[in-house]
Amino acid sequence: MENKKQPIQTAKRQIMLKESRAATRSIERSPLVFERPLSNLCIRKRFQGAMKSLILTLCALSLPLHGEMRVVSDFEGGNAEAVEIDQVNRVIRIMPELREGRGWPCWWFFRLEGLAVGETFKLEVQAQAKPYREYTVLAASWCQPKHAWLSADGSTWHPSAKGVLTPEKVMVYEIKAEAPEVSIAWGPPFVPRDGERLLNEISALLPDAEVFELAKTKGGRPVSGIRIGAEDAHHQVWIGSRQHAWEAGGSQVGRGFIRWYASDEAKDLRSKTCLHYIPIMDVDNAAQGAGGKDSIPRDHNRDWAAEPIYPEVAAAQRMIRAIQAKQGLDVYIDLHNPGHNDPTFFFGPFAFERMSGIQQRNYQRWIDLAAINIREPYPVQPKYRFATYVKTDEERGRMSSGWVRANTSTSTISVTLETTWNSPEMSVEGYGKVGAGLGRALAAYLAEEPGRN
Ligand SMILES: [Zn+2]
Repeated sequence: MENKKQPIQTAKRQIMLKESRAATRSIERSPLVFERPLSNLCIRKRFQGAMKSLILTLCALSLPLHGEMRVVSDFEGGNAEAVEIDQVNRVIRIMPELREGRGWPCWWFFRLEGLAVGETFKLEVQAQAKPYREYTVLAASWCQPKHAWLSADGSTWHPSAKGVLTPEKVMVYEIKAEAPEVSIAWGPPFVPRDGERLLNEISALLPDAEVFELAKTKGGRPVSGIRIGAEDAHHQVWIGSRQHAWEAGGSQVGRGFIRWYASDEAKDLRSKTCLHYIPIMDVDNAAQGAGGKDSIPRDHNRDWAAEPIYPEVAAAQRMIRAIQAKQGLDVYIDLHNPGHNDPTFFFGPFAFERMSGIQQRNYQRWIDLAAINIREPYPVQPKYRFATYVKTDEERGRMSSGWVRANTSTSTISVTLETTWNSPEMSVEGYGKVGAGLGRALAAYLAEEPGRN
């Protein structure tokens, strides 16, 4: 935060300058110089009046109308580089801070302090100007949601009024302060602490469920998951999110899903299924407020190789191989957020059109049942999309969905859910509805016995 002191100090100096000039003017106009003799009473009155105005001027000099706005982001999942803070006009400009080698600078999440309750201020968000990889600078749209997300208590989140994009590609949000300190983020955040809390909540509801440590990250942080159901259950399912750390919406969908899965509605499904669920895969980047996507040398969803560099990816591969060997994996779902103009959709297998038999039947049934069950806040697209931007077979094989397909059976489906985010509907509750819909699709799909011939 050192390099931001300059503009802050400049703004402060300007206020001081303005105020001292005003004070000088008021002293120049003060009626201390008399043109003709006056009565004692009159002199005393005038003197008292002059003293009063002098005291008021001194008070105005020492007490600013608002506090000094301060951007704080040194907490789990926090990220914001303050570009400029105009204390007089109440405008702050931020950009996502670059975390060297840790992928896209698109996620931002900070606390703004020094507000007067009820005052209106402007938040400006611009793209990070430095390249995140070689010479590539990230397009501004990834860090400029239509609405900023606000929280006065740090736990409930609501959207701001719609931002306005300037011709200079700066998004400007006008925000009314609800409290002296407000948390502001790209979207409703979901940090590692939220993941741990969620797993505790679910294991308290389902005493037979087992919270486990998938791995310790390279940074020494635990990657936790939960197993619900007997290991030798009839159906086997793996669902996870945040292979790309910035895509907090993936974890929000996961939370909606697992809460639905722990509810009475899913009782029958639970009795026949063993579910493994991981709320955050890339814990290191999620903890540091880094984007993760396109990390150097590669991100989590390009690490599903013969020798992964991330311990949590290697551990997930080992467990999925073991599930496949013992029972056969029925469903693998990876939860993500897509681009700013995208709807909610599934990435399907590249070879879908050429598939036949059980494999073709199962992938088709999945997308049909997903379209019936995932309706809110927006319906999921009824047809698969394909990640054609990934050009080589080698790279496609290193994506988790591709690796799972290659290491399971023809009856397994392995898909990626990309949940739309650029809307005020995509609140914690909105994402939760997608998750519940996903659960209902899963129940309907497994009820058809995808392993049958
Ligand atoms: Zn992603």
